[in-house]
Order: sequence, then structure tokens, then C-alpha cells
Amino acid sequence: MVIFKKAADLQHFIDTKRAHQSVKLGFVPTMGALHEGHLSLIGASKKQKCLTVCSIFVNPTQFNDPEDFKKYPSTLDADTEALLGAGCDILFIPDILEIYPDGFDAVKSYSFAYLETIFEGAQRPGHFQGVGKVVARLLELVQPQVLFLGQKDAQQCLVIKELIKQMNWEHKTSVSIVPTVRNEQGLALSSRNLRLTEAEQKQALALYQSLQLIKAAKTSNNFEHAKQACIALLHQNNCELEYLALADAASLQPLSDFDTHKDMMAIIAARVGAVRLIDNLFI
Ligand code: AMP
Repeated sequence: MVIFKKAADLQHFIDTKRAHQSVKLGFVPTMGALHEGHLSLIGASKKQKCLTVCSIFVNPTQFNDPEDFKKYPSTLDADTEALLGAGCDILFIPDILEIYPDGFDAVKSYSFAYLETIFEGAQRPGHFQGVGKVVARLLELVQPQVLFLGQKDAQQCLVIKELIKQMNWEHKTSVSIVPTVRNEQGLALSSRNLRLTEAEQKQALALYQSLQLIKAAKTSNNFEHAKQACIALLHQNNCELEYLALADAASLQPLSDFDTHKDMMAIIAARVGAVRLIDNLFI
């Protein structure tokens, strides 16, 4: 695995490879503190026989909460080892000046319409603007043929697909979405789980249990009734609910009740102690 800090060096390396052979470049953007979820994206890229680039960059513009940014875990040595083990070809670890050489405001902003007003968009004002900026910059620098994203961040997947459309890059970069990796009990792996105590990790299982409860209610109950049971479960487990909703799986437009003619998704965000967690499930 080769490691680059400078975009120009990364681009030179990729150009040299391309000069000698046809290369399909697979790109996995991350914020580090890597776990099996991230590594499954690397695995998906390798499976598609891509020359695989992983970036680690904790993007300040997508944190609406400065404390969350400050506390974001950093485990670069372990990340490098894990990427080596997963067969990643290239690790890109830019500093902030590589990504934002002329400041944050110099990077073009994109608008994601209703996606910025629901769920994560509503709870984290400015978050998707920041995601749009960093992903647009990274795509320009890396120029991948395939971008690998995790289903765990379902709304982010839609935002990035919309970004690629607005950049007129659909012919250049396709998006491949990889299923959520969970621990044995069902907790979705997340870098933020590192900040949960052992007791909180157990309490956090209530998020996935809620999603499953909603899935089980699909044919026998109405959504509001199922949601009330989830609220009680989350409360018992000291999880402070931000939202728990039913949505059209393709658009994430909220649904008021189960509609078995549609592909649906249950989507949740809750705080467990000081840590904010999100999850979702196709139902
Ligand atoms: P992050 O480092 O949190 O920005 O995540 C980088 C990428 O990994 C994003 O595309 C996430 O959706 C994906 N990802 C994070 N957690 C998981 C997981 N548990 N399973 C699959 N993909 C994940």
C-alpha cells in the first residue's frame, strides 16, 4: 500500500498507473477510526477488481457541533494496519490545506433540496453542505470510476448521488452502496462507538431493536403504534431519541404509515450518553 499526503503525488501515481494499463479506480472516503464497516467497503472495491484508494480526512465543515469534531477519534496507525490487511492499494491522508487551499468558502456549495430539511438535514444544519463540499473536492482529486458508500448513512448516500448528478459526473463515477456491518448483537459499527462505555454499548442496542420492532409490525400493526413501543424501549435504555421515522426507501420521503406497495426504510437517530448514533433498516 502506498500512502500519499499530497494530492499532486496521488494524482501523479494514478496517472502513471493509467499510462501503463487500464485502471478502474475504486474510492472509499472515510474519516478514519476504521472498523469492519469501512473495511467491507474496501472489500467491495477489491471484489470489483478496482485499484482501491481510501482517504482519511476528518472534515471540519460537516460537523455542526464543534465538540463532536474535537472528540472525533483518531487511530491512524491502527487504520494503516487495517487497510494493509484489507488489501487497500492507496491511502490518501490529506491535510486541511490540500482539501481547502483557499478556505472553506472558496469551494462550490451544492443544494440538496428536501434532503437538507429532513432527518440528518434537519438535526444537523449545514452538515450536508459540508459533506457536499468535501466529497466534491475528493472526487475532483481522486477521479474514481466507482465510489463506495455505506448503507448505514442512507441519507448521505442520496445526497452524494444528487451531488454527482449536479456535478454532471454520472458518466464518470458510479456509486456502489454496501450493506451495514453490525456487531453480533446488531449494533451498527461506527467510529463513534469507541466513545461508548460498555454499559452504553448495551443500551445502544435499543436502536437496532427498535428498527426490527418496526419491521416486525409491518403487516400486523400501524406505524404510530409500533413507534410508541420503540419510544418506551429507547427510554428504558436511556437512549434520547431524536427521530424515528418511516420513509420511502428510494427517496427517504417520510411516510405516515406502512405501505406494503413501497420499498420502505425505518430510520433512527438517538443519543446514548454523549454520543449521537444513527441507523436504518430496509423493512
Ligand atoms: P465515516 O468514516 O463515518 O465517514 O464513514 C466512511 C464510510 O464508511 C461511509 O460511506 C459510511 O457510510 C461507511 N460506513 C460507516 N459505518 C459503516 C458500517 N457499519 N457498515 C458499512 N459501512 C459503514
